Amino acid sequence: MRAIRRFTVRPVLPEPLAPLGDLAMNLRWSWHPATQDLFAAVDSQLWAATGHDPMRLLGEVSGERLAELSSDDGFLAELRVAAADLRSYLSEDRRYQSLGSDVPRQIAYFSPEFGITAVLPQYSGGLGILAGDHLKAASDLGAPLLGVGLLYRHGYFKQSLSGDGWQQERYPIVDPQAMPLSLLRESDGAPARVVVGLPGGRTLAAQIWVAQVGRVPLLLLDSGIEDNQPAERDVTDRLYGGGTEHRLLQEMLLGVGGVRALRTYCRITGAPAPEVFHTNEGHAGFLGLERIREYVEERGLDFDSALEVTRAGTVFTTHTPVPAGIDRFARDLVEQHFSGDNEAPGVPIDRILALGAEDYEGGDPSLFNMAVMGLRLGQRANGVSALHGEVSRGMFAGLWPGFDETEVPITSVTNGVHAPTWVAREMGELTRIDEGTGTTDWSVVDQIPESAMWKTKASMRARLVEYSRARLRESWLARGASEAELGWIEHALDPDVLTIGFARRVPSYKRLTLMLADRDRLKRLLLDPERPLQIVIAGKAHPADDGGKRLIQEVVWFADDPEVRHRIVFLPDYDMGLAYPLVTGCDVWLNNPLRPYEACGTSGMKAALNGGLNVSIRDGWWDEWFDGENGWAIPSADGVGDPDRRDDLEAHALYDLLENQVAPRFYDRDEHGLPRRWLEMVRHTLKSLGPKVLATRMFDDYVRQLYAPAAVSSRALNASFEGARQLAAWKRRVREAWHDVHVDHVESGGVGEGAEVGGSAGLRVFVSLGTLSPEDVDVQVLHGRVDDVDRLQNPSTLSLTPAESYEAGRYRYEGEVRFDRTGPVGYTVRILPHNDNLASAAELGLVEWPPAAQPMVNGDLR
Ligand SMILES: *Cc1c(COP(=O)(O)O)cnc(C)c1O
Repeated sequence: MRAIRRFTVRPVLPEPLAPLGDLAMNLRWSWHPATQDLFAAVDSQLWAATGHDPMRLLGEVSGERLAELSSDDGFLAELRVAAADLRSYLSEDRRYQSLGSDVPRQIAYFSPEFGITAVLPQYSGGLGILAGDHLKAASDLGAPLLGVGLLYRHGYFKQSLSGDGWQQERYPIVDPQAMPLSLLRESDGAPARVVVGLPGGRTLAAQIWVAQVGRVPLLLLDSGIEDNQPAERDVTDRLYGGGTEHRLLQEMLLGVGGVRALRTYCRITGAPAPEVFHTNEGHAGFLGLERIREYVEERGLDFDSALEVTRAGTVFTTHTPVPAGIDRFARDLVEQHFSGDNEAPGVPIDRILALGAEDYEGGDPSLFNMAVMGLRLGQRANGVSALHGEVSRGMFAGLWPGFDETEVPITSVTNGVHAPTWVAREMGELTRIDEGTGTTDWSVVDQIPESAMWKTKASMRARLVEYSRARLRESWLARGASEAELGWIEHALDPDVLTIGFARRVPSYKRLTLMLADRDRLKRLLLDPERPLQIVIAGKAHPADDGGKRLIQEVVWFADDPEVRHRIVFLPDYDMGLAYPLVTGCDVWLNNPLRPYEACGTSGMKAALNGGLNVSIRDGWWDEWFDGENGWAIPSADGVGDPDRRDDLEAHALYDLLENQVAPRFYDRDEHGLPRRWLEMVRHTLKSLGPKVLATRMFDDYVRQLYAPAAVSSRALNASFEGARQLAAWKRRVREAWHDVHVDHVESGGVGEGAEVGGSAGLRVFVSLGTLSPEDVDVQVLHGRVDDVDRLQNPSTLSLTPAESYEAGRYRYEGEVRFDRTGPVGYTVRILPHNDNLASAAELGLVEWPPAAQPMVNGDLR
């Protein structure tokens, strides 16, 4: 029989054990080994059986055991230490408190998913894990940050396999009462509510759960409440489930409702209001519309001024160059939801539609693009690795016509991973990674004896082997096998064999089955009598992606073959719980995406911090930080047009690498049985990548490059809103006047043939500015090396000075160009709008070049 209603009774702990409840409710336990040890000491079997879930542990542990612990002085002493440690972690000044006054007093971070721990299944993959690591790094650094997301009542699905190797999905109920979540309540005890309007007079209400991630509160909106009609109750049912309208409603709740939830939280708790809003991928983009509405309705600004203040304090991060990964809605659907009786006062639908319009070459006018809106609502934007920044600048260049791709205002901050979450305890001890901040003095790596390093890796590998056997057995039983058939699993995988990990979501660009391109060759590598390999594979396909499920099935079928099943295994249900033993236990982390579709990738970073070596296509972060000695780059066949041939070439390059370089190095042992050359690479990996791949480094980069400048801009426009009004009026004026702005004439004077390095020459540029004045513009000369079609290569920029106005609206500008390099050089000039409140020269998308926009070579104007 089924229950008609379910609820969870929270345990009442005996008084002396009360601090255990606080330790369980703050998710800091998930990256704090000492606190985990304390939970293990409550009941080690139960701790393991609950999958390391403190709430379940405390809910299920017997009353007798609790009574016993209540009078166990040793335990109580450790409990006091842990509780005091958490208290000081939460209250003491940390690095952020020393950064001065330009940094934001509060940051709001919006994301559709958050991966904090396996016991809070509110993520599907890298985007969520990154968001979780971002929160944890903020907490460790003491940064005032509030996370905002949704609470999905069924989370993301749990994966298993049918007998035939086809992915099966289950959606277990996520009961917030049984999670480390507390309901946000008004002072009278009533649960706080946010309400978002829908068309047709309907409303979408949500309650707000707060997860405490160390010092960082994470607000999760939950529409599963009785105030809602049944349809609206299901809005937060599943992560990335349902059709497009369902997703739109989720995103309205996340963006619009999220801002309202933040306001409610700050009102109730007295937390400072956010100065900077960070949109982690397009899904949360509607938050900008809500902030515009606030400025219009509550502060009396007009739309344009409200847009300027909103933009100034918004940071947008784009996460994918895969077109299918970009969030787009039918324009009509958006119109229907934000117009008519649901149109917010002062936020007209045509302005909203214009923000998401693909009104550039190659765009689709019938679609509303959330990434495009993100870029228009955020004055600052970034991609997530250097290469991805470059790819994104190319991808979105249409939004800034007239500008070179290099000037598209999308910078990059390379992702990182939270070391205390992802580094195995014994490796953390070797490298002395600080539990609190994930940092260390990486030079200690030089002092680790080779034997200790090898022993540590061997024990981590052995743990992975044990763990994999258990998961494999579970999986086979679920697929319908009987215990009697599974004797072989005791010998599946070998703790002494070179172990390769491959785990990630299964979109096609990640090419799960690349390794199967030549099955015989792969078999030979796995079964090599001298230098065998073993591979542990995991990954979920999106429930609607049958292509991905077919790839999984192919891998499963290959791994089912009795000839190789002890050397290659597919473990179902990839989540953070499985990721940890995998990234810590592997010798090699394999990644073979189709370049350049992997925006960053982070699992290889986790492996690197654990002394694993990366074998990867030069994509995402690996393109940036592979240095020839910290792992291997699989040569990619970028230029090859035929995708099958490209896959084939890259697969064979991978086999060659594994056979000729990776395996020989791993199995080349000295007289003590140590693979010295391998360990050299491990040491170099830890030293070279360790400091770079940390989430704290990433967070610092965000603060320096994006958050602090956004806070400064936002304050400048917020003070009395006069700045915002002026900026909006100025932009309007400049846009209207721009068609009269021209470069009339360039006098090269001495710039040209006969120039010698070290010399300089004067340049005179005559311009028409129409109704604009020299304060409104920047007249620049761009000079530097040119290629064989006269394109300037990374030109230097020099602003010219207005020398005289020789006629109404016409000006002569002058400047001195220095020749600091020999060889073919050239220059050109241009006029840009100029205002101190712009974050980038390309911001307005306005630029005026000379009539012949070609740069000059050696002085010849063409
Ligand atoms: C780290 C992690 C990811 C991200 O992997 P990529 O390398 O970015 O593909 C995805 N899922 C889980 C469970 C992870 O731990």
